[in-house]
Amino acid sequence: MTELATSRPGGETTDSDWSAAVAAIRELAPTGRVLLICHVNPDGDALGSMLGFALGLRRLGVTRLQATFPGAFEVPEPFVELPGVDLLVPESEVWPDPDLVITFDAAASSRLGDLAGRLARARATVVLDHHASNAGFGGINLVDPQAAATSVVAEELLARLDVPLDPQIAECLYVALATDTGSFKFDMTTPRVHEMAARLIATGLRPGEISRRTFDTRPFGAVKLFAEVLARAELEPAAAAGHGLVWTYVTQDDLARHGQRAYVMDALIDPVRTVAEADVAVLIKETGDRTWAVSLRSKGAVDVSAVAVALGGGGHRLAAGYTGHGTPAEVVAGVRELVEQHLLPQG
Ligand code: AMP
Ligand code: MN
Ligand code: MN
Repeated sequence: MTELATSRPGGETTDSDWSAAVAAIRELAPTGRVLLICHVNPDGDALGSMLGFALGLRRLGVTRLQATFPGAFEVPEPFVELPGVDLLVPESEVWPDPDLVITFDAAASSRLGDLAGRLARARATVVLDHHASNAGFGGINLVDPQAAATSVVAEELLARLDVPLDPQIAECLYVALATDTGSFKFDMTTPRVHEMAARLIATGLRPGEISRRTFDTRPFGAVKLFAEVLARAELEPAAAAGHGLVWTYVTQDDLARHGQRAYVMDALIDPVRTVAEADVAVLIKETGDRTWAVSLRSKGAVDVSAVAVALGGGGHRLAAGYTGHGTPAEVVAGVRELVEQHLLPQG
């Protein structure tokens, strides 16, 4: 088994990493227990890349297969119709000692919560990811910071396993790709991204229907909640060395008053980051007592990944997050100070 764990942590992904991943899957998946894990509070890339890959393994004849994520077993409404959701099991039902563990879209093992311990017990571990900050916490690491989504890495690994795309696999990978490119709007929307989208759509997908269901549908109560949260947004034009910062917050009480579930908070960063007068957008989402999931976005003036890392989190240069503590005003004070220190070169 030693030859199955040859990947150099933190290094560039090489042909031998891909071969090691294929060898580990071919050796362990046919008879072993295969556990797929994506990051806590899963988004479209985490769930889409994991479920698309799970369906591919099922096509290969793999039967002892679990897909999961840490924490409360609540699949966000936009993803409940994703193909393969039937493969999801709650954390409490996850095998204690799987043979093969494969992780998706997690930049560090801390993003796997209490499930991180399963990696040490497995005979082989494969990490699929695209965060530049990923130091390679698996035995085999397929980490491509150039990839627009983890589903780009998943598609490549499926191809190397000779699994053809079918409409169900394609839908999962498409939702993942559309999520992380902001529906093909962000800078990382390269020719390679559109080529992959073309391959996926060619299986018979209906992009209009998928994006309406995934991104453009929310309960009336969520719309009223958005109105309230946006109405309390504050603009600080002088922050970030004059590039501007806009911030707001949403509490558990706000959710309860509008009868909404926690997942609806995740889409709220998008209207906040449209503000013309601010480069940096901050959304502070209450997850527990004085505890907040903080979303950070920049339009190019600030490296918000560096800000998030300094505060114990992570992410990408222009989209990152961390766990904050205190009042919303205290949380934003910490961010306000750090954005000044992580300005990107302009030009
Ligand atoms: P979000 O604001 O939740 O949409 O997350 C934006 C980016 O930041 C994603 O790439 C996440 O993986 C990353 N991220 C968010 N929260 C954390 C955290 N607590 N620790 C590490 N990375 C995070
Ligand atoms: Mn993600
Ligand atoms: Mn991602």
